[in-house]
Amino acid sequence: MRVAVISAEAVPYSKTGGLGDVAGALPKALRSVGVDAFLITPCYLQTKGEYLWHTAIDDLWVDWRGQRFRAKVFYSEANGSPTFLIDAPEYFHRDSIYGYREDYERFAFFNHAALELIRRLGAAPDVVHLNDWHCGFAAVEIAHLRFWESYWRNTRTFFSIHNLAYQGAFDAGELWKFGFSSDFERNAFAFNGHASALKAGLSASDLLSTVSNRYAFEIQTAQEGYGLDWLLRERADRLIGVTNGVDYDVWNPEKDSYLGAHYNAWNIEGKRECKRQLLEQFSLPVDLERPIFANITRLTAQKGIDLMMAVAGEILATGSYIVSLGSGEQKYEDFWQRLRDYAPNQVGVFRGYNEDLAHKIEAGADMFMMPSKFEPCGLNQMYSLRYGTIPIVRAVGGLDDTVQNFDAVSGTGNGFKFRDYSPDKFLEKIYEALFAYYDKDAWRKMQWNGMTVDNSWENAARKYVGLYRMITGK
Ligand code: ADP
Repeated sequence: MRVAVISAEAVPYSKTGGLGDVAGALPKALRSVGVDAFLITPCYLQTKGEYLWHTAIDDLWVDWRGQRFRAKVFYSEANGSPTFLIDAPEYFHRDSIYGYREDYERFAFFNHAALELIRRLGAAPDVVHLNDWHCGFAAVEIAHLRFWESYWRNTRTFFSIHNLAYQGAFDAGELWKFGFSSDFERNAFAFNGHASALKAGLSASDLLSTVSNRYAFEIQTAQEGYGLDWLLRERADRLIGVTNGVDYDVWNPEKDSYLGAHYNAWNIEGKRECKRQLLEQFSLPVDLERPIFANITRLTAQKGIDLMMAVAGEILATGSYIVSLGSGEQKYEDFWQRLRDYAPNQVGVFRGYNEDLAHKIEAGADMFMMPSKFEPCGLNQMYSLRYGTIPIVRAVGGLDDTVQNFDAVSGTGNGFKFRDYSPDKFLEKIYEALFAYYDKDAWRKMQWNGMTVDNSWENAARKYVGLYRMITGK
């Protein structure tokens, strides 16, 4: 089984969120269960030179907007699988990975170049695994090419939704520039008077998946479907939830190279040292008995920052610490900064993106807050489980699937979750968590339950292979 995974971001080459973690780890996981998987991703300005092992192709000629466009392709295995990085400075060497008016054109080019690259690499893949709106273009192109080029005849497309909220909308008048001119192609993109790359991927791919069972259900409702719920209901027999895995080579407190001390489920002593170092790093007074509530996220409304804002004062009133790492919307950045100014001995804030600190916070904190409005899968709650940091989450999407409420009597469960998007409900769980925190045996049991859960990629990879078999008949 030969599988090309295509993604706009992939760790360690690039990352803005969970998609990067997933796309970086999936090909390696697929290879470990016998799939001939390789990854195609852009080479950004942000991609570190040390990851570009050598030039694979110096002259990838791409027919693009009526011209011949020359791109370069680098090769690497820094993520544990063969990876091809498409280098087109005009599109990808920019100050940030996303956020430009013509993002749709940048990724339309990326998709088109990726298919050209696949041809150059030899045997046609059995499956092209596409991710999020950035890859919707390739779904349509392959569906079209299957009729015209024997090379693609047996290739099937698999489209994973990591976040339905990002749709890649643009003016449908642009489609012809990218070579999409047939009725079939235009219809695939058509959405609310615009073109949507996400809608194209959802309608033209052979099979759809999303990153948790619960989210697969939620996106078929008008409330969470972003106008596409009708299409997802129509294709419900082709939509399957596969919960993301955790790359335990990267997120594992036993050998995490970012940490000053190591620990595991059996011997958790090192976590105390990580906590001490974390408090010192944020210049907070070191009192190891007080709990640290943490949060690491893109600061957008999706992540329930409003709920955190509403309860932060109550948390501080209990004498606890709060530590926050993130960047995003100004009002949220301002809030964390104000909170820090208000209680400089209890609050630690880092504004920006910082991989090193993300690991240190997972290890040093006691509780992780994730009260998301919606959450396709969520990774940080799974990292928290492995690091013995108790997740307090809203019961939506992957958070609902991966966190079980702790029951002090039976000793079952690995965290706390609430359903209604309300500060009171969130606060109830925070108090419950605090109550458990001061009961050392209960806390240790809960940590054990979380740290021994197996959220490894292997389970997910096996599910994907089953689905690939279903569409290829192999
Ligand atoms: P999303 O993909 O919606 O951002 P996920 O929970 O699936 O949410 O994944 C987020 C990933 O991005 C996690 O690996 C998290 O640690 C990381 N992350 C988010 N913000 C930051 C930041 N400011 N610094 C470092 N890592 C971050």
